Amino acid sequence: MAKLIIVSNRLPVKLQEKEGELSYKTSEGGLATGLGSIYKQKDNLWIGWPGMVVNEPEKQDKITEDLRPENMHPVFLTETEIKEFYEGFSNETLWPTFHYFSQYAIYEQQLWETYVKVNEKYCEEVVKQAGPEDTIWVHDYQLLLLPSMLRERLPDSTIGFFQHIPFPSYEVFRLLPWRKSLLEGMLGADLVGFHTYDDMRHFLSSVNRIVGYGSMHGWINTPSRSLLVDSFPMGIDYEKYAGTAASEEVKKRERIYRSNLNAQKIILSIDRLDYSKGIAQRLKAFELFLEKYPEFHEQVTLLMLVVPSRDAVEKYKELKEEVDELVGRINGKYSHINWNPIQYFYRSYPLETLSAFYRMADVALVTPMRDGMNLVCKEYVASKLDQKGVLILSEMAGASKELSDALLINPNDINQIVESLYTALTMPEEMQQAQMQNMQESLQRYNIHHWVSMFMDRLSYVKIKQMSLATSYLDEATFLEMSDAYDSASSRLFFLEYDGALVDYRNRPLMARPDDELMDLLELISSNPKNRVVVVSSREKATMQDWLGHLNIDIIAEHGVWIKQRGTGWQTMLSLMDDWKKDIRLILDLYVDRTPGSFIEEKEYSLVWHYRRVETGLGDLRARELVSHLNFLASNSNLQVLDGQMAVEVKAQEINKGKASSYWLSKFPHKFVVAVGDDWGDEDIFKAMPREAYTIKVGNAYSVAKYHVDTCEEARKTLLRLVQSSSKQEQTSGGALMTG
Ligand code: UDP
Repeated sequence: MAKLIIVSNRLPVKLQEKEGELSYKTSEGGLATGLGSIYKQKDNLWIGWPGMVVNEPEKQDKITEDLRPENMHPVFLTETEIKEFYEGFSNETLWPTFHYFSQYAIYEQQLWETYVKVNEKYCEEVVKQAGPEDTIWVHDYQLLLLPSMLRERLPDSTIGFFQHIPFPSYEVFRLLPWRKSLLEGMLGADLVGFHTYDDMRHFLSSVNRIVGYGSMHGWINTPSRSLLVDSFPMGIDYEKYAGTAASEEVKKRERIYRSNLNAQKIILSIDRLDYSKGIAQRLKAFELFLEKYPEFHEQVTLLMLVVPSRDAVEKYKELKEEVDELVGRINGKYSHINWNPIQYFYRSYPLETLSAFYRMADVALVTPMRDGMNLVCKEYVASKLDQKGVLILSEMAGASKELSDALLINPNDINQIVESLYTALTMPEEMQQAQMQNMQESLQRYNIHHWVSMFMDRLSYVKIKQMSLATSYLDEATFLEMSDAYDSASSRLFFLEYDGALVDYRNRPLMARPDDELMDLLELISSNPKNRVVVVSSREKATMQDWLGHLNIDIIAEHGVWIKQRGTGWQTMLSLMDDWKKDIRLILDLYVDRTPGSFIEEKEYSLVWHYRRVETGLGDLRARELVSHLNFLASNSNLQVLDGQMAVEVKAQEINKGKASSYWLSKFPHKFVVAVGDDWGDEDIFKAMPREAYTIKVGNAYSVAKYHVDTCEEARKTLLRLVQSSSKQEQTSGGALMTG
């Protein structure tokens, strides 16, 4: 039976040793809770470091034994590995870079090498435990290389990867000396998940620019496989937080803390000590608030909890000193005998205490400079049973994408934070309740269990989709079979896509003229009276006429809007109104204005924005923007947006190459059918073909086509061999023969 293996840097347990006795403290983090429902089932397993350095082999064996019934398997790391892999590369190179603090990032080859080695170590442990059909879900930035390492060892396994921290913009990510290896490591997964669409977008853009793979609707096609990139905002265990907040124990704690703070309003701030959390900036904003609104003196307290973290790292030590100093300065300036504006605690608290703080707080001030998701703000909302309270939330936190009812702020805008504090502290209760209500509904629905099932469902979907898209290489045996079918057929149809399948792409569309070799090939195929050749293109009919109009072939131009049957003139398949063009053209003009080198091509029934001559990367970036812009507009109209090779095309939806091809299938006899195409638009042709047709995709192994070849040249050679063998030559009435 296939099982699920979760792999993360840490196991959901903390191993401790006191006077020779081992003890295991289970973690209550969100991830452990969410995944708890699955890793504990049957033979499923969680693999990771147990949180303590253990060098003695006998002790390691004992721990492995102890953890087995809990469905956990330990990976043991040495002191040096912890220093160089975890504290070093993960937390001093990747963490700052991914949180847009690249000025804090260190680039050291030694740390990188240990990072690679430790990822290999995890890989070894997973391989020892995994069967070939298992599903493996890898978590977070410490294990970016693991998906590809696993793919190599377990090629058929299903691998998911989720990154819990942000993925930065290409401009920041590219600073890493090991950027390409990191991306290639992640691309070993079948599904790569991030918290937000922006993270996903940044990842796709880095993959495009650094590794060179494009994407469509989140699908990346590598030469050997397709994988999906998607966003899955992680939720919390809503019932747990709401339930805890309702407990008697928590209410009791709240009463005790309240009595010490009199009737003051409470602003709550909870974070791990980290420069990405904006703790110092928050303190400065609170100081300015006290200066600007003296009427709140003695009326408000900032309850600030800072949880110690990564204190071995120099930057964190410096931050701790800065925070201590700021708290001291502000309290020194404003404290009275009965009032300290800031109650500051540098320690961690159990859930019940946090819950009491959440209940008490009139305002939660969550202002990270950058945060993958941020759970504190969600926990605050879930704990507000009376719905009284206001959340001030940084727009740089992933959670802000879901919690749009919070007061959203830019953490660098100190004045905005000050004004938001004022707004929050004076907000009428009905408004607080209305906002809380909306946020609670959303968090209740998109909870941690929902997140886990969304990810797992999507992973299964990817696997099914991959199977349906896997084509086999058109090998000699298949060719011979195809050749036999050709020989015995009395009527044959050839659907040959022009750009990318018969002719390589060129910088300017008009440079891709048919060469002599292609002309000879088309003449040769069409010279056989049993053959009917249909060249399919999205190009304008005038160009197709100019290039191929004199041949004895049929042509589909402009995706099927125009068709030409041999010996006749051009006809439109659909008489469509083109009044949509005016509006769309205005949008395309805007993109031409913003993108030097791009231009618009107007066809009879479509508009195309070309970016072949645009600076590498910029065109692609604009195209992504344009596609989402157009898709938004097209969702309520009859238009279709095609994200093609270096071009974005908008056309009326009824028309596609597949529909046009069906016309030939319905009109002409066909005992043998071959279709050759290369890009996403050609999938329509393949889908329209009968089951027994030979559908051949040029250039990539993923398609609804049955077979693939690698290049246009190979496609041409295959066609030539098909019609050129000696037994067939006698049937043909001419056409120069090609060599090579
Ligand atoms: N937390 C805790 N004890 C504390 C303070 C915080 O257990 O004293 C928990 C908090 O409930 C939340 C987590 O720590 O679940 C912090 O998660 P978040 O995503 O906000 O920040 P991270 O530290 O993961 O960057």
